[in-house]
Amino acid sequence: MTPEQFRAMGHRAVDWIADYLERIEQFPVLSQVEPGRVRAGLPAHPPREGEPFDAVLADLDRVVLPGVTHWQHPGFFGYFPANSSGPAIIGELLSAGLGVQGMLWATSPACTELETVVVDWMAELLGLPAHFRTDDRGGGSIQDSASSSVLVALVAALRRARAGSATARPTVYLTAQAHSSVEKAARIAGLDADALRVVDVDPDTLAMDPGHLAALIDADVAAGLAPAMVCATIGTTATGAIDPVRRIGEVTTRHGVWLHIDAAWAGSAAVCPELRWINDGVAEHADSYCMDPHKWLLTNFDCSLLWVADRAPLIEALSIMPEYLRNRATESGAVIDYRDWQVPLGRRFRALKLWLVIRWYGARGLAEHIRTGVRLAQHLAAMVADDPGFELLPHHPLGLVCFRPLWPGADPDDADRRTLDLLERLNAGGQLYLTHAKVHDRVVLRFAVGSPQTRDHHVEAAWRGIREQREAGLRVGATGR
Ligand code: PLP
Repeated sequence: MTPEQFRAMGHRAVDWIADYLERIEQFPVLSQVEPGRVRAGLPAHPPREGEPFDAVLADLDRVVLPGVTHWQHPGFFGYFPANSSGPAIIGELLSAGLGVQGMLWATSPACTELETVVVDWMAELLGLPAHFRTDDRGGGSIQDSASSSVLVALVAALRRARAGSATARPTVYLTAQAHSSVEKAARIAGLDADALRVVDVDPDTLAMDPGHLAALIDADVAAGLAPAMVCATIGTTATGAIDPVRRIGEVTTRHGVWLHIDAAWAGSAAVCPELRWINDGVAEHADSYCMDPHKWLLTNFDCSLLWVADRAPLIEALSIMPEYLRNRATESGAVIDYRDWQVPLGRRFRALKLWLVIRWYGARGLAEHIRTGVRLAQHLAAMVADDPGFELLPHHPLGLVCFRPLWPGADPDDADRRTLDLLERLNAGGQLYLTHAKVHDRVVLRFAVGSPQTRDHHVEAAWRGIREQREAGLRVGATGR
């Protein structure tokens, strides 16, 4: 492809994306295709000769789009948001255009140094402690996911625990509300299931019980085990619960246990000074902290930030220097090689998209985006609270609201079944997409606001749809059909 051909195709591709974003509300939020439909629409064998871009664009519209769930749709309220934005898309394009592989400082100094600048900027934007900054003991890096971030933190924590006691079996502490990536990280790190300790949660807030954590750690120490890491969550996936980091940190600091903070979704909220209470205790106690701009901060997947309070244990755990990577810059000790902060060797130039996002929106624009999401979630919560046909779960300070429709006369299992039926009907309607979770083993609906396109009228229309589907469910229940 010549530069001129690239320019022409690139303009058309950008036009296609702009048109898509402009007409996104015409599509059903949740893809309605049955399994196998996308594959069946495409040839089983690759083309022998190259094809024109027109043919590809036609297939994008005809085959691919029907199989897309539109995460950027203003009616997308499922899971957590996976924000995209114009500057982030352009940042991805620029990154692809440069085609850099930034495993070492020497393989592209700008890739490393821009990353250092944006992670330090982000630490400042979120009000994180100064020792998380690269010009202090710590530092941040861009990982592909919060799952990788917790794995990397765990590997560093295990190394530290083993340095304290080479033979004692390590243990890891989390609640049943923690994200599954913590358990997965433990498996990848080679820990047996019995190395995991499930800490109780407060039955009302679903946040970790620091008293139970202390008791578990005390018992493990007494049994000769080596408590290695506690993972506290700020904003759990099911309900947005916020573990009490300060009180948890008092326990981990007392025992010298690594404290990892998973703020994958909620961490973005700290761009608003009035929401920084969520990080209370992080400055004093956290060894590592993760948040995903690819969830709620307008930056296309993938972009997960991991900071450490002290970079030495992380680098000691992950740095291996084969002869073919030796170079003068690394040996001078004057540069960062981010390959030593992550699982893979190679790395994308992800800093570009975050840099574009921060420069386009500024601190003020980022905070406005979060405040809008929180305001809309509170608007929904107020409507749910006012409706006697629904039960609102009490704690929803950010952009996630959980609630359940009430089914008079139904036993708990029947009520769950009817709630899931309601969810299926809603999502099949194409106007919105919600997901569910279980709280104390009972189904709740999760409504996560976060798309930059979502306005009051989208939330109000969604609420009308939910109420209508409850009415429909009551009628079906009444006739027994
Ligand atoms: N932690 C929490 C609290 C999450 O909600 C999620 C995903 O929703 C993750 C971790 C995993 O995120 P990622 O896809 O970046 O690995």
